[in-house]
Amino acid sequence: MNALRVISDLRELQARTGTATGAQRLAWGPVWRDAREWFRGKIGELGLRIDTDSAGNNWVVVPGASPKTVIVGSHLDSVPNGGWLDGCLGVLAALEAIRAHAGARPPVTLRLVDWADEEGARFGRSLLGSSAAGGSLNIEDVRGLTDRQGTRLVDALTENGVAIDRMVDAHRELKTIDARAYLELHIEQGPVLESMGKPTGVVIGTFGVERHMLRFTGQAAHSGSTPIAMRRDAFLAAAQTALECREIARRHSKPGAGVVCTVGVVNVEPKIVTAVPGLCEISLDQRALDPAVLAAMLRDAQEAAARAASENNVTVEWRTIWRIEPRPFDPTLLRLCEEAVREETGDAPRLPSGPLHDAAEMAPHMPVVMMFAYSSNGLSHCKEEDTPAPHLESTIRAYLRLVQKTIAHVAAT
Ligand SMILES: [Zn+2]
Repeated sequence: MNALRVISDLRELQARTGTATGAQRLAWGPVWRDAREWFRGKIGELGLRIDTDSAGNNWVVVPGASPKTVIVGSHLDSVPNGGWLDGCLGVLAALEAIRAHAGARPPVTLRLVDWADEEGARFGRSLLGSSAAGGSLNIEDVRGLTDRQGTRLVDALTENGVAIDRMVDAHRELKTIDARAYLELHIEQGPVLESMGKPTGVVIGTFGVERHMLRFTGQAAHSGSTPIAMRRDAFLAAAQTALECREIARRHSKPGAGVVCTVGVVNVEPKIVTAVPGLCEISLDQRALDPAVLAAMLRDAQEAAARAASENNVTVEWRTIWRIEPRPFDPTLLRLCEEAVREETGDAPRLPSGPLHDAAEMAPHMPVVMMFAYSSNGLSHCKEEDTPAPHLESTIRAYLRLVQKTIAHVAAT
């Protein structure tokens, strides 16, 4: 197996599907289809073929002596103006892993998967293909989605041969696989490995997420004539809550178990320089790996919002946008991953994943582990996204080692 070949495949894909402003493989669009066509050619060279499931996920099978299956993969789609590694690193490293076994008969069956629409960049629903396969997708949640141009998801799917009402069949199809492991390599997309000076990390699980909108309602009033003490300023209550949420994250963070709270959206009304805001809506996104910690952070935020509301004489209402429970990865695969990373790089730092990945959708159904590659300057979802060449090479080698170790482990159990 050859890590340099993976890097040259990545460069080839970048040249074909990227522009000066970055990768353009937006799911369900022409450039993404072209990337998949290019990938189909690579698979064809191995004498293998691609099968597409009911949700548009692409699968390649290398039959082994046993139906017990090791799945390798990630996603080829990107955000607009995305990076050259996000998603495709995992798919092309998986390609190299199956290259070594194509035509031979490995002791267990190998499957490569390229998940459809991991990013959700066009229609706003991340992990679309893998959540259909994982069985967590509710079609009614996505049926009405449209992109910025007004194109309906239903029509974009049809254009790609996917019928929205049949997407959930992908779950039944996944269940026919005797899956014993899912291994995903991905760029970290954050600054943790860089801050430790380590090229490769063992991912212990994906964060659970609590995502809500908080609506503070006070009373709009004239900014000149309303004394401070008599105001019902919805913005101040929201701002006080946002500051308190930073303290909540600080309080619940432990070394090696960081948590995050983010207020990313603020809407104020009436949005006039001479008016006290009568209405303020903020988003809150809280993430943690430990379910008890996540629940405690949510409780603390609810208390903080209620307190800020009462101190400012306003009311607050919560609306849940989305939540997912934490998904810790498999202890045996974590050990194999740690061995592989240590053998290649001399050390095996463990870290949780803040962003979600397709791996999170597989975790309820089979043993899962992920490996992270160093992100230069912690940047991702932009053209600057990069992993320094020596780090990239050693990370790919560690991943290929993990695949071999997992095949041997699954064959023996
Ligand atoms: Zn990704």
